[in-house]
Amino acid sequence: MLRKWEQRTGATLKIEGESGKPDYPNATHYSENFKKSELDCKCGCKTPADIQKNLVRVCDTMLEPLRLRIGTVVVLSGYRCPSYNAKIGGAKSSQHMQGKAIDFNRPAMGISQEDLVAEIKRIDAVNGIGVYPNGGVHGDLRRPPRVVWSSF
Ligand SMILES: [Zn+2]
Ligand SMILES: [Zn+2]
Repeated sequence: MLRKWEQRTGATLKIEGESGKPDYPNATHYSENFKKSELDCKCGCKTPADIQKNLVRVCDTMLEPLRLRIGTVVVLSGYRCPSYNAKIGGAKSSQHMQGKAIDFNRPAMGISQEDLVAEIKRIDAVNGIGVYPNGGVHGDLRRPPRVVWSSF
């Protein structure tokens, strides 16, 4: 937000690189507070460039805003390549394979499932919300309309 404001106003404080290219992804991070290692596929494959772009968007529109609200956001699962997704039994059209979905490590975040779901619902960009019996929560950036599902 701050960066966009600076671009519009031509303020002198320059955070972005030459020619206004975005800062992220860089060698280690998708955004200020989220490392590539947190969001990349757990199988160790190389994340394609278009997927990396999606992961940057996930950070900008979901993870960073959520972090501002609740302080701590811990990712359990982000991008999954098709073979890894199949291996763990993920849905065939999983948003994780596009780098548009996050499963949260809710216990590590110290927030109840109900509260986390409520906070995620307040973030406009999140149009897919999954609520799982094991306490897990999923959020993704699919196109509207918003879908909320529960496997209880
Ligand atoms: Zn993989
Ligand atoms: Zn998920």
